[in-house]
Amino acid sequence: WLKRRSAVPGHGRLVVLAGPTAVGKGTVSAFIRENFPDVMLSVSATTRRPRPGEIDGLHYFFVDDAGFDRMIDSGEFLEWAVVHNLSRYGTPRGPVQEALASGRSVLLEIDLDGARQVRAAMPEATLVFLLPPTWEELVRRLVGRGTESPEEQARRLETARVELAAQDEFDALVVNDDVRRTAAEVVDLLAVPGAPSRA
Ligand code: 5GP
Repeated sequence: WLKRRSAVPGHGRLVVLAGPTAVGKGTVSAFIRENFPDVMLSVSATTRRPRPGEIDGLHYFFVDDAGFDRMIDSGEFLEWAVVHNLSRYGTPRGPVQEALASGRSVLLEIDLDGARQVRAAMPEATLVFLLPPTWEELVRRLVGRGTESPEEQARRLETARVELAAQDEFDALVVNDDVRRTAAEVVDLLAVPGAPSRA
């Protein structure tokens, strides 16, 4: 079930990390950001408000609706989507292309809609789908983190059901039962120099 996509010669690899809400995508990408500085973690633009502790330009570029519209109109996005029927999120194209061209590998942490757009735009990308150990564990993680209202939790679980049904579209499925092990698998797919490889 693991398809290794060959990178464009001389270019870094592009890996897309997707998966349902609360599966731990954010934790895995934060772990990679801290432990694998060779990986370029793409910073998305979003119209949602910053949460406490989030830094503009590091976690996201926080923009208003008009700013997001301008970015769409000027073709700045590699992909963008409305996530959880609420806010818009998009991947700025320029930094991704520059990093890849300079031989750096790039990780995108985006939703299913965005992953499909990247697949269409860049067929050489490797799409990774993070799975929870069980559905019950996913619900427990979402409720346990306590950052969403009950209505928002219900909406995210509905999206999660739809997203889980799309796992066949992905090149690799990784069960996120341990952040270190999961991060190691993702980094392996990024083929970062110096990182252990099981290829
Ligand atoms: P959060 O609001 O919790 O930071 O993120 C909500 C969802 O938005 C996550 O599932 C995340 O993967 C997705 N997301 C973040 N950035 C992007 C992006 O640039 N494009 C797309 N399509 N989804 C994104």
